[in-house]
Amino acid sequence: MKNKKQDNRVGIMGGTFNPIHYGHLVTAQEALKQFNLNKVIFIPTGEPPHKTLAKIASAEDRYLMTVIATASNSNFIVSRIEIDKKGKSYTIDTVRELRKKYGKELSLYFITGADAILEILTWKNTEEIITLCSFIAATRPGYNISRIEDLTKKLFNNNEDKISIMEVPALAISSTDIRYRIKSGRPINYLLPEGVCNYILKHGLYK
Ligand code: ATP
Ligand code: MG
Repeated sequence: MKNKKQDNRVGIMGGTFNPIHYGHLVTAQEALKQFNLNKVIFIPTGEPPHKTLAKIASAEDRYLMTVIATASNSNFIVSRIEIDKKGKSYTIDTVRELRKKYGKELSLYFITGADAILEILTWKNTEEIITLCSFIAATRPGYNISRIEDLTKKLFNNNEDKISIMEVPALAISSTDIRYRIKSGRPINYLLPEGVCNYILKHGLYK
């Protein structure tokens, strides 16, 4: 029988995934191992509150690319919780819903990069969100972790059960750069899974 303890440690990886790339996948994989999670739920955003002006593929395309990218990993699943919702999605609502669905027994770990953690923890409802889940902040090239360390002191009183900084192999890959490459005819292969590359080409995304 599987260790029961492991079955109630779940990671949440939220993102626009416009498109999903190896930076996301390496981060999720590393969290799975380092924090002994039994699965990571990828949650593509619906209509993202902060990116309405940026060029963004449809929620359905981003969902499908996320499914393609994670298909071969049995510990990765993709949720439609945000994309099926009308209007804007806020992290706090999603975490509340997952908490309701999975119950109190579950340890929820919200996985983000060093940039996104600062956004999430400086929104309103910070007090509530930190009672609902713990945070894993992954290192990301170009983003300094000293601000996270300051925030950790302030919000969590350095409580390592609540927020951990996780070293991941540095990948200076971003969806913005991938979109920019497509627009300017530069290669994107090896930055994201081949199936996702093919999906982008087939549907003419980001041109
Ligand atoms: P964009 O450039 O459009 O903002 P992105 O590459 O930052 O795209 P998001 O969908 O915004 O991707 O990110 C989802 C989550 O993955 C965020 O928590 C982000 O910090 C994290 N993340 C993205 N790329 C990396 C990377 N290369 N290394 C570590 N974490 C990353
Ligand atoms: Mg981003």
